[in-house]
Amino acid sequence: MARIHLSVPHMGGREERYVREAFASNWLSSVGPQLDAFEREFSARLGRPAVALGSGTAALHLGLRLLGVGPGDEVLVSDFTFVASVNPIRYLGGEPVFVDSDPDTWLMSPRLLSKALADRARRRRAPKAVVVVHLYGQCADMDPIVAACAEHGVAILEDAAEALGATYCGRPAGSFGTLAAFSFNGNKIITTTGGGMLAAAKPEWVERARYWSTQAREPGAAYHHRELGYNYRLSNVLAAIGRGQLEVLEERVRQRRAVEACYRAALADVPGLAFMPEADYGLHTHWLSCLTVDPDRFGATRDEVLAALAAEDIEARPLWKPMHLQPLYAGCDRYGGEVAAGLFANGLCLPSSSSLAQADQERVIEVVHRVARPAFATRRSSEGVVLAPHRSLDPPELPQGP
Ligand SMILES: *Cc1c(COP(=O)(O)O)cnc(C)c1O
Repeated sequence: MARIHLSVPHMGGREERYVREAFASNWLSSVGPQLDAFEREFSARLGRPAVALGSGTAALHLGLRLLGVGPGDEVLVSDFTFVASVNPIRYLGGEPVFVDSDPDTWLMSPRLLSKALADRARRRRAPKAVVVVHLYGQCADMDPIVAACAEHGVAILEDAAEALGATYCGRPAGSFGTLAAFSFNGNKIITTTGGGMLAAAKPEWVERARYWSTQAREPGAAYHHRELGYNYRLSNVLAAIGRGQLEVLEERVRQRRAVEACYRAALADVPGLAFMPEADYGLHTHWLSCLTVDPDRFGATRDEVLAALAAEDIEARPLWKPMHLQPLYAGCDRYGGEVAAGLFANGLCLPSSSSLAQADQERVIEVVHRVARPAFATRRSSEGVVLAPHRSLDPPELPQGP
């Protein structure tokens, strides 16, 4: 049987046509009509101007530079995230300060953020920016976050790399902060094979980021430079892929949500499993299907679930390892961390591709059921309750250790 991956690219069908257009025009590099169109189409959806870049990380880097982050400046950032949310702070010599998640959303706690902002203000050390990360397809609770940042005059950079297509109170992820970064990496909800986008409230900020992204080359034929730039521009060919992908974004959101809903329904009766909460304030794309395992009630640990899936050639992963547990960021200041640490200790993401076949998803569900059942069955029998097994034909089997 074929390996089941966590999250794979899923082309819509028109990408090749746009790529052929790019080839026919011979615009294959960092300038061209596909790039212009991709930015235009992306901006129209978001309602803000945007510049296409080589990665989401590049977008975060340029966004932080636009906010003036420099050596010694503090930046408040979600503790529970992928390292790419934080590394660009260090690229600029800044100091990350981590803010824990709210257990009800798994995303940045507005309460802890307010506390952090007030605490920093008391020490007369206002952070230069707040990086709010929208993880796994759900927006953080932006109203109180925006209000707290406005009160302290601190700008927000949204890391919406995992949340393209998500909404909060009817508005798209990435339309709340001063700036927002998106990713089109191969495992994201849509992909350009690799790429990113930086959106801003102000058009002149996007212009400046575009200028920096092409080595800060001054107009004119001579190679004249006033500012430090980067080679961060997306290519016209990859922008062509992005155009085709944007056309199927809504369909991809529906498909990812359907995958998660299927897991949720099939595993609803298994004790000790809890899926990522869906906040009532917006649309959760369920980019990845995430859940936590309570080992006592489930009867096996998260790592035993991962091992059982791996033995069946199914790729599943722990949730993000919080930044305060990374040796790279040891010693950084933080507010909380216990929620993120708990999610990392017991959480996992299941295969979530929008192209995941029903039969493959059933394979995943079957493995999770099989790992759960022994303890489930044992406890029920010790309570004197007779319970029908989930799959009556399978012989009971003890979970294999890693
Ligand atoms: C993927 C991701 C990034 C980085 O995007 P790249 O395009 O891979 O550079 C940043 N933040 C988060 C939360 C991500 O998941």
